[in-house]
Amino acid sequence: MTFRIGNGFDVHRFSDDPSRPLVLGGVLFEGHVGLHGHSDADVVTHAVAEALLGAAGLGDLGSHFPDTDERWRGADSLRLLLEVVRLVGEAGWSPVNVDCSTIAERPKLAPRRDEMQDALTAIVGAPVTVKGRRAEGIGGLGRVEGIACLASALIESNATAGSADGTDRSS
Ligand code: MG
Repeated sequence: MTFRIGNGFDVHRFSDDPSRPLVLGGVLFEGHVGLHGHSDADVVTHAVAEALLGAAGLGDLGSHFPDTDERWRGADSLRLLLEVVRLVGEAGWSPVNVDCSTIAERPKLAPRRDEMQDALTAIVGAPVTVKGRRAEGIGGLGRVEGIACLASALIESNATAGSADGTDRSS
């Protein structure tokens, strides 16, 4: 069995528009101002997608879903993640698990962790875990200027033994 790992990082600043919804890991956090971005700016889902693309050697989110493309304006990032999972599968890989560390002074993520994990796990088709960390007041994240997320993804090859990474080495 062949495995590969990938890491993903994303950061979005908070929007100046107080009516913009905050979506993290596919979950709506009511009563909190959202993040600035072309899609719904779901920084957690974007980091998960980046990690999966990286593991499969498929580039980054921006190359697949450019922010100049009107199709993705305000897009539900779970739809983007579903497309990423499809691309990863098409390339011969299945997600094993993804783990995320979200860096946010607020909102508190722990009360919604299960919802985020369930939403992401349902899309990825493998366990996705989400942890929340505060930035301890340090830097822009600590001044509540935005939210960042780091993710690690493990994927395994769908290919059978002898062509474990999908590459035919018989010739
Ligand atoms: Mg992003």
